[in-house]
Amino acid sequence: MSSKDIKELGWDELVPGACLFSFTEPVENVVDLTMDERPYAPTNSHEASVGDWRVEKPVYNRDLCIDCQFCWIFCPDISIISRDKKMIGIDYDHCKGCGICVEVCPTNPKSLLMFPEQTDNEEALASWPEKEKK
Ligand code: SF4
Ligand code: SF4
Repeated sequence: MSSKDIKELGWDELVPGACLFSFTEPVENVVDLTMDERPYAPTNSHEASVGDWRVEKPVYNRDLCIDCQFCWIFCPDISIISRDKKMIGIDYDHCKGCGICVEVCPTNPKSLLMFPEQTDNEEALASWPEKEKK
């Protein structure tokens, strides 16, 4: 058993049933803080990068987005970056590549599409599909 204080343990050092701390100190009005302003604890999954094992990634196309926020609501890993109800990108350090954001995106064509992890984002944007006819 580690002699470290539980607040110092990373998420992958915990035993089943452990109490997880979200923040290192009490936080008031957390919704008013952007992600980079929040004092995340090491046990918070925000501190764990998954970029090394993702095989597909979502690529975001700003030109098509209507800022509906569906992707932000449904992402299970808080990896959609939104400011003032405006979608601005994807946090690739935490995105696990599940594709849910792409599934819920309502535009035609979609404003998020999945591409192989190694694809350059500029190339992906250049190959975006045309609007589908009804
Ligand atoms: S692929 Fe999954 S984890 Fe990544 S941004 Fe989309 S919904 Fe979130
Ligand atoms: S779901 Fe699609 S249209 Fe809606 S905010 Fe996300 S990327 Fe933009």
